[in-house]
Amino acid sequence: ATPTALLVGTGRGAQLGILIKGPEVLESTRRIDTIVLDKTGTVTTGKMTLIDVVSVPGQDRAELLRLAGALEDASEHPIAQAVAKGAVDELDIVLPEVDDFRNVEGKGVTGIVEGRSVLVGRRTLLDDWAIAPDPDMERAQNTAEDQGKTAVLVAWDGRLRGVLVIADRVKPTSAEAIRQFRELGLEPILLTGDNTTVAQRIAAEVGIERVIAEVMPSDKADVIVRLQSEGKSVAMVGDGVNDAAALAQADLGLAMGTGTDAAIEASDLTLVRGDLRSAADAIRLSRRTLGTIK
Ligand code: ADP
Ligand code: MG
Repeated sequence: ATPTALLVGTGRGAQLGILIKGPEVLESTRRIDTIVLDKTGTVTTGKMTLIDVVSVPGQDRAELLRLAGALEDASEHPIAQAVAKGAVDELDIVLPEVDDFRNVEGKGVTGIVEGRSVLVGRRTLLDDWAIAPDPDMERAQNTAEDQGKTAVLVAWDGRLRGVLVIADRVKPTSAEAIRQFRELGLEPILLTGDNTTVAQRIAAEVGIERVIAEVMPSDKADVIVRLQSEGKSVAMVGDGVNDAAALAQADLGLAMGTGTDAAIEASDLTLVRGDLRSAADAIRLSRRTLGTIK
């Protein structure tokens, strides 16, 4: 490959909304046969909305929203922002302060609000704190997840208090992008920390068959390593801080331009518009560029 031809390729990339870290990046697109896609913020908009609040009998709904909203206000997770905004919109209050805020990676958040020790997150977080499950709340959670929604649990002072249901939407361009990946001979795989039911729902909606769900952020890069050790040449598309290591590990890392700086820095390519179809454009362009200069 001559440097000039490669640079022509990168110039065209800029026109298509694809920023390429260096011309040498293009070379790695030749062998890519697998494309791993993060779910939240990549296949979906990542703009989540709080759509339902279910509290245990006798639990005041406003109190549940106030404590959960206050705690989540300290987190930057898309789920957290949806909860905090939902609480402010419904209660029309300034959320109380949080002390001793902690983010438990891939599980949820904890902190002290109004003197109570509050937890918001998935079941495994509550298990860590030995909080007993509640059959009604479990049912509410399962119903939401069967519909492809995300449900998080709220507990304080050792007791489960309710379920918050949050919904995200698939980007309108995702299904078309996945069709194009297949046309390019790439097998799409959905990779997420979210639970299997939600992940499979989203995957079915956009035409992905293979799902790797309930993966801790720190294990996302290991999933890439495993695929590579099976002989696959792997592209990864992601947007979050929790995707950075996997993006760096992949043979080709693509970051959503709408995502975090950590993801962009770890990647070879940035999809400026946050449109998954640009990933297909990037691979097509790059192969075409290399094809003309052999
Ligand atoms: P993803 O891979 O989809 O971006 P994460 O690894 O960030 O997901 O989180 C995995 C799961 O942990 C979420 O689906 C949620 O159940 C829980 N979780 C993480 N952070 C929070 C939070 N701030 N509030 C509530 N739940 C959270
Ligand atoms: Mg993400």
